[in-house]
Amino acid sequence: MRRPLVMGNWKMNGRLESARALLAAVAAGAKGLASVEIVVCPPYPFLSLGAPQGIGLGAQNVAAQAEGAYTGEVSAAMLKDMACQFVIVGHSERRTLFGETNTAVAEKFAQVQAQGMIPVLCVGETADERDRGLTEKVIEEQIKAVVTAVGPAAFNRAVIAYEPVWAIGTGRAAAPADAQAVHHFIRSTVARTAAGAAASLRILYGGSVKAQNAPELFAQADIDGGLIGGAALNAQEFIGICRAADTKASKGS
Ligand code: PEP
Repeated sequence: MRRPLVMGNWKMNGRLESARALLAAVAAGAKGLASVEIVVCPPYPFLSLGAPQGIGLGAQNVAAQAEGAYTGEVSAAMLKDMACQFVIVGHSERRTLFGETNTAVAEKFAQVQAQGMIPVLCVGETADERDRGLTEKVIEEQIKAVVTAVGPAAFNRAVIAYEPVWAIGTGRAAAPADAQAVHHFIRSTVARTAAGAAASLRILYGGSVKAQNAPELFAQADIDGGLIGGAALNAQEFIGICRAADTKASKGS
């Protein structure tokens, strides 16, 4: 059974004191949730606060290069030094607002793995791509770019987050059955290059997850937790989501 994972992506929100308070509130709320793995991804400057006991630490982005004259970039080795265990790569905001291509995302993925951390590869279609029936094609290309760059073992130690772009920050989550169908497609796609990795690969759903809709989403067979944006900024809401994942795991479903 895959251990559910819930990750909070804080994006570019908060200040030092609010970050400290949010970490403390998440830590307090997470007590007793033993079956779910919980990870927070604060902005870079707040990584130095560390994650409380029992909570994992992740970064939201990383450079595609290992080191050198790349002003403003942060390397995977630096994130490793800050005790990050996970790094999000290819978030749709990076792809659309900062022009990251599938190739650049694959390079970032490789940098993260080279440092022994776990890349969280975000994949997903825009509303227009969905309307044109391109969801599977888009996602397959996003996954293939990583396999091409890293090789067939790419997903042996990785996480994929299915984040339909039209669901991010819109309050309009994918219907659980629709999300399940895409998660199943993702697992089958990975299985075509690495069957073993596919069975144990955690595939998170992201896009307007709240405490209220999390139980139904997480009840789906191929949804192994969530990548949470807006709701991760509210400790009570975030912990409600973590609780839903914890319940799935403790039921052994
Ligand atoms: C995200 O940006 O990864 C995300 C899932 O955002 P939200 O939960 O706010 O839709």
